[in-house]
Amino acid sequence: MKTIGLIGGMSWESTLEYYRIINESVNKRLKGHHSAKLLLFSLDFEEIVRLMNENKWVAIAEIIISAAKRLEKAGADFFLICTNTIHKVAEEVEGNVSIPLIHIVDETAKRIKEKGLKTVGLLGTKFTMEEKFYKERLRKHGITAIIPEKSERDYVDKVIFEELTFGIIKRSSRENLIRIIDNLISKGAEGIVLGCTELPLIIGQEDVDVPVFDTTKIHAESAV
Ligand code: GLU
Repeated sequence: MKTIGLIGGMSWESTLEYYRIINESVNKRLKGHHSAKLLLFSLDFEEIVRLMNENKWVAIAEIIISAAKRLEKAGADFFLICTNTIHKVAEEVEGNVSIPLIHIVDETAKRIKEKGLKTVGLLGTKFTMEEKFYKERLRKHGITAIIPEKSERDYVDKVIFEELTFGIIKRSSRENLIRIIDNLISKGAEGIVLGCTELPLIIGQEDVDVPVFDTTKIHAESAV
């Protein structure tokens, strides 16, 4: 069995999900007492959030590269960055380590293509929805991402950073997110990408009429 490297803690609420899904998935395949061989490097999210808000992406890349190198040194065969947003620096990170990175957008795109979809609605942090890195990577796979209106994007970002990353799940927020998703569907979204690893804590396939792509589950299962 290979050893999975995880760079987590962004936030730890979603890293818990990675740990659970990876172990459940290994056990489903191998049965018995089998569980995953993995190394977790969990960061202090406060440092990362501050740097994101100050737009200091070079500093963020340095932290992630250092974590990836430590995972490599500790024996990880490959690694995952357990957040969508931080994939903004994925290319710099990949160029500085010799073990492979399992890229969250590539794995999500594979699932979207398997369903035969071409246009998806994208929910995530402001960085993920508004900047090029995520949508262009989907575009390379032939997938068009549409995003919510500005006020809706601000709302989604606020729910992520003021509720979900603290483990707070509110029914009112779920209802508002479903409304935002319905607007994306009415604009042509054939599927919805939950492009933030905390969003599956509040929204699931049962809340939405079109296929939902849970990036936490997809990414964790791809590692297995
Ligand atoms: N976990 C989130 C994501 O998937 C947001 C937190 C972060 O910025 O890392 O984008």
